[in-house]
Amino acid sequence: MPGQCFLMSPDFQPVVPAVLSFLDNATLYSSRFDDIYASANGALEQAQHVFLDGNDLPRRWQGANRFTIVETGFGAGLNFLATWRALRQSGATGVDLHYVSVEKHPFPLAALEAIHERYSEIGEIADRLREQYPPLLPGFHRLHFDNGRVTLTLLFGDAAEMLHQLQARVDAFFLDGFAPARNPDMWSAGVFRELARLAGANATLATYTVAASVWNGLEAAGFALEKRQGFASKREMLCGRYARPVKETGNIRDKRVIVIGAGLAGTSCANSMARRGWDVLLIERHPGPAQEASGIPAGLMRPVFSLDWNPHSRFTSGAFLYAIRHRLAARPLDDEPTPAGNGVLQLARDAFHFEKQQRIVEQFSLPRDLACVVQTREATEIAGTTVAGPAIWFPSSGWASPAAMCRSNLDHSGGGVTNLYGCDVAGVRRTGACWDVLDASGQVLAHAPAIVLANALTVRRFVQADWLPLRPVRGQVSLMPQRIGRDLRTAVCREGYITPAKDGMHCVGATFNEDLPDIEARLEDHETNLLRLESMLPGFGEGVTTANLGARVAFRTMSFDRLPVLGALPDPRRPASGDTDGLFTCLALGSRGMTWAALSAEIVASRVCGEPMPIEASMLKMLEPDRFLRMYPERRNQGGKPGGTNDQTSDTGAKPG
Ligand code: SAM
Repeated sequence: MPGQCFLMSPDFQPVVPAVLSFLDNATLYSSRFDDIYASANGALEQAQHVFLDGNDLPRRWQGANRFTIVETGFGAGLNFLATWRALRQSGATGVDLHYVSVEKHPFPLAALEAIHERYSEIGEIADRLREQYPPLLPGFHRLHFDNGRVTLTLLFGDAAEMLHQLQARVDAFFLDGFAPARNPDMWSAGVFRELARLAGANATLATYTVAASVWNGLEAAGFALEKRQGFASKREMLCGRYARPVKETGNIRDKRVIVIGAGLAGTSCANSMARRGWDVLLIERHPGPAQEASGIPAGLMRPVFSLDWNPHSRFTSGAFLYAIRHRLAARPLDDEPTPAGNGVLQLARDAFHFEKQQRIVEQFSLPRDLACVVQTREATEIAGTTVAGPAIWFPSSGWASPAAMCRSNLDHSGGGVTNLYGCDVAGVRRTGACWDVLDASGQVLAHAPAIVLANALTVRRFVQADWLPLRPVRGQVSLMPQRIGRDLRTAVCREGYITPAKDGMHCVGATFNEDLPDIEARLEDHETNLLRLESMLPGFGEGVTTANLGARVAFRTMSFDRLPVLGALPDPRRPASGDTDGLFTCLALGSRGMTWAALSAEIVASRVCGEPMPIEASMLKMLEPDRFLRMYPERRNQGGKPGGTNDQTSDTGAKPG
């Protein structure tokens, strides 16, 4: 395709899937590596002997709170399933399992099903795995099972590269590449270096191979090794322990957290922390949740793909996939408060844009249930009304009321969230190991070892966060009455969007103005929304005038690079001082709150709890608050904004020269 190579990011490497094949119709085999995936004497039995027994599991789970395993080579997920089954059978009810597995050539879903069919003893959990199995997009994919007790993070890509992107403290390694002679990349010095970097104190490893190159490489990386009896016909296998000192990371032991702000960001964080067993106090200045930007009647939840796989589209697509999986894991879909899953049509702007949409679907080999291109006639059939042109169709995307999602976050947090509504926080202050939350008169409202600031622009009131370059972006949606004979079956978007009617109203929007403080609805914004509607769905709004429209105005919070601000808040005055330890942010979800909130909250919660991070380190660097200190070095030591102004709205995001 002309132009494709030029436009494709040098970083983008499409996933090349594994091809299903069996030796003698029995043993799973890779022709790419000319090797079998597991012992012909039984994959699950091998998992038990080599990887579980070799790492002294399940015994080490007893009494542990969290246990992290990293596996090289996910394959068909049989080691993972054997481990999950062992955990269920172990009676170790207090431990949360993080299983991280890297795979360069993942099996397509249909192939996994054909493999799993052969193992009826793990049938139920294999079904659960396949229900959430991600499309084969490169990078990290996090899946939750058994109410969050088991977390699987799949890293699709080359082992050395992906492990380099992982932030985790690991308790046990399952080294399961193909035979070293056939698959040297899995046993390279680079991989072993990453294992050593990731190893926690007393980390162990096990592998079926005793190849001298593996022994020497692991030993050079710092592992003390021993040979043990191998599985079935194999005489020996290798076990090891990380033998060098490991710097302990200080985890917060007192599991109480205050979340400030009860919009999509705050309720999602409250949900993520409560599911981890933390006591959450959710403080909101309004009398209930979702009163500001999250109060718009409807918003879209959909991925964004770009040919260059830029950070915005990578994060948005990853967040979308996480959000729909997470809903599936956390609660049944029919429990959704609103019709969320009826698809989104994104119309092409012109012929050139449509060609680009086609190339995107090809480049990423997107499965049809995630995205496909449709010509105008098909798009019209899908929408149930005439659309202006061809489109990319996202069948598993949807729209919903953000307020309903906020309520759902709170309803599904297992009773771990206490609400304090109508309570205006004026500041936060460190006292010993805790943070106080203060009202305007300086009274302490509450205190806890950790605080998540999810209060959008009002975070600027707090001296610890007043330097963050956030700005308000005004958005106005027009509420258009549904009319008889004009049905819309799916959300449609291009420059703006329209949702199917709910309670007799379509939501048409939203405008995007960076420098407008007007809280009142503006006539010209209604006109803009109607014009965009006409350009997407010709005739659909015929006869509607601005006088027929209701309105809602809200101010989204954006950072100047339009990415969210997630993670530990540094102190710009004394960055290494630890003065802001325990302060975290979940801010600047902008106009993508519906899509971004769940993964954003997972990132923040993983950081607060010291768990393996759910996305790549390079991406985290682009999202964490301290990126602004790297971009604006003058913010260090001084605090405040470049040029000394604290006028947040005037910081329109010009990059420093
Ligand atoms: N543990 C798997 C299971 O339980 O089904 C079997 C793993 S199989 C022996 C080895 C796996 O390593 C294959 O799925 C293969 O595609 C993967 N692999 C090979 N080279 C790789 C690399 N450089 N990076 C990541 N994965 C790789």
